[in-house]
Amino acid sequence: MTTAEATDDHRNARAMDTLVDTHRFLRQAVALARANVDEGGRPFGAVVVRNGEVIATGVNEFHRSGDITDHAELLALRAVARAHGSDALKGAAVFASGHPCPMCLAAMRMAGVGLVAYAYSNADAEPFGLSTAAIYDDLRLPLGEQSMAIRHVPPVADDAAAAGDGLYAHWAHRG
Ligand SMILES: [Zn+2]
Repeated sequence: MTTAEATDDHRNARAMDTLVDTHRFLRQAVALARANVDEGGRPFGAVVVRNGEVIATGVNEFHRSGDITDHAELLALRAVARAHGSDALKGAAVFASGHPCPMCLAAMRMAGVGLVAYAYSNADAEPFGLSTAAIYDDLRLPLGEQSMAIRHVPPVADDAAAAGDGLYAHWAHRG
């Protein structure tokens, strides 16, 4: 065996390990989602992994809180931040039972998550009314064409801004 072949074998082995881990973490996310359904919740679960270890999990808790933002992925991200600080999310991996919605995907991006894997697609979810594909489609439109009214109204009434101390300048010059 040449050195190149050995390196390839090593790479393939690592890729296989990663795939096995991916299946394992996704199975865990789906198991969380199933358990959540059995407790009256929606079929969504997520696990956050760092250095091969699960550091937080979450399930959709809308049925308990009535809060539409209580998604599995967001709650898992919040659990990591509470327990380990938000830096722990940088480069972490999120494994979700279903295709993340735009809110959760954006939160993962803002947190610096490095990898997202999901098991059930929006196509799988569509027949059950659980897909967020329509929101993704809407968000691709220019702001003025989206279904929710979005208006940019510049801060004309901000006297401090008129005096050269706009909100962001105020933040930039904080003591
Ligand atoms: Zn979400």
